[in-house]
Parts: sequence; C-alpha cells; structure tokens
Amino acid sequence: MALVETVRGPVDAASLGTTLMHEHVFVLSEEVRRNYPAYWDEDERVDDAIVKLNALAARGCQSIADPTVLGLGRDIGRIKRVADGTDLNIIVATGLYTYNEVPLYFKYRGPGPADSATGGLDPMAQMFIEDLTTGIAGTGVKAAFLKCAIDDQGCTPGVERVMRAVCRAHAETGAPITVHTHPGTGTGRDVLRVLREEGADLTKVVLGHSGDSTDLDYLTEMADTGCLLGMDRFGLDLITPFEQRVSTVVALCERGYAGSMVLSHDASCYIDWFPPEVVPLFAPAWHFEHLFDDVLPALRERGVTEEQIETMLVANPQRYFGGS
Ligand SMILES: [Zn+2]
Repeated sequence: MALVETVRGPVDAASLGTTLMHEHVFVLSEEVRRNYPAYWDEDERVDDAIVKLNALAARGCQSIADPTVLGLGRDIGRIKRVADGTDLNIIVATGLYTYNEVPLYFKYRGPGPADSATGGLDPMAQMFIEDLTTGIAGTGVKAAFLKCAIDDQGCTPGVERVMRAVCRAHAETGAPITVHTHPGTGTGRDVLRVLREEGADLTKVVLGHSGDSTDLDYLTEMADTGCLLGMDRFGLDLITPFEQRVSTVVALCERGYAGSMVLSHDASCYIDWFPPEVVPLFAPAWHFEHLFDDVLPALRERGVTEEQIETMLVANPQRYFGGS
C-alpha cells in the first residue's frame, strides 16, 4: 500500500479516486494581504472555499492536488481550516514559483561548494525536503509533491536553480514533480533537459499546462518521454479555446495517450491576481465544475471512452502519487 500525504494525513493512493491534478484553494499576494487586511476577510474566504470544494466533491471528485507554493501565497494553516470543512482530499506541494529570478532570500543563500557545510545542497532543496518529510511550518501537514515553473522567459538561471533544487528533493524523497510550463515556446524540452541531467524519474513528472498547446507533435514528443501531460487549464479559454482543448485530448486519446494525460482547471477558490468581478468576464467557465459539466460530456460525445476518462482522472494520478 502506497501512502499519499494529504492535509488530513496520509491516505492510501488507491483511495484517491477521481483526482484533479492542478487546482488551487487560494492564490494570494500574501505580503499585500497581510499589510492591507481591510481588503481580506479570512472567515468569509475560508467558508467560501469550503462551499466551492464541497460542490466539487458533490460532482464526484474525491481529491485535488494543490500546487500552491512559495510565490503563490502558500499558507497551510489556512488550508487546514478549509480541509476541516470538506471530505475532499487536499494534497499540498512544496517548491517555488518564479518565471525568472529567485527571491532575494535565496539569491544570497546559495548551495555552496560540495565540500562546504551544506554539502553542495541548495538551502532551498533542504527546505523542500523538510516540507516533504517532517511537515510544513509546524502544522504537521506534509507536502506530497514538488512544484516549479518555467514560462516564456525560458530557462533563466533562477528558473534552472529552482528546477535543480526540486530535482534534488525528488531524488532524496521520491516525491513527484509538477512543472508549470509554457508549451507555446516549447519549454517542456528545457524541463526534460534539466530533469534528465539530474536523473529524475520522468514517469513522476507532470508537464503542467501542456493543454494550452494544440501541437500534437510537441505533445506526443513530451509524452513519449514518460511524462504526464497536464491538460489542466480547462476554462482558461482566453489562452486556448474550449473546442481546441477538447479536440487535443480527443486526438491524443485516439493515438493511445490516455495513459499520459491528467485533467484539471488550474482554477482557484479565490485568486487575488484579478478583481473578483472581472474573472467571470474573461473566463466564465474557469471554475471547478466545468470539467464535469462541459468537458467530460464533450469528450464522451467525441468518442473518448469511460475507461480512458477513468485512466486520466483516477489511474494516472494514483500512479503519479503512489505507484512505482
Ligand atoms: Zn496553477
């Protein structure tokens, strides 16, 4: 039995059930929030998140993987309050989200040479390992996966440093990895180069936001390495329209790639990057129920089988978190 850490403690990977592999409870500009508390109501937001996650659970979703890490306002104490109000398993992550430079905190705390006190281990990697093995910030909650990012700036020195630190924590703990990628500029290739150099297990990697791309040659090239493709931004139709997202999943299923895809929205209960009233204007379908209301029916209509859907929503997440 392989155990997966969730906010409420370890569960059997085989019991995760239908799992959305990239959803955020909160994405917050935490320093702004703390300094301008008049713009934030903690109880209201926690209650709202519970309502939204329970609505998701009512659709048959049993687990979400929440890749909210440093740079996205992670606060596990707040997530614990939310988890207390829902039966949904919330799986949390460690890592760092940047498209370019590392935060100044890390800029002047480098790995140092191999023969120094750190043994050449990036202090950032050491922190990730602590989150995975002893728990996060005294909450007792352990992270179950690692997260880093690369966007259209490409593999900058900061991005590469974080990616290598994530790989070191993966090597040390076996925790799987999710990478925010920008498939439009083919950044999955940069990820694979670094991960291969670090000896990462590519079957334990989600190339997040792959579903923003409709380039089947790129997507099959990535999937053929063993990685999972994150078809994980359903509802962000402004980036890639619904029809194209659906067609891409259908085409990959037809080519035998159901075992290489996971499905999600990259939605949040609350994200402070946008004024709340603006989100429904630019992304009306960007919410947790879109997959169940719109995407799965469209996939079925286009010939994707129940078995393929089960593979993408249940078996692939279970393998990522639990299977060897
Ligand atoms: Zn995300």
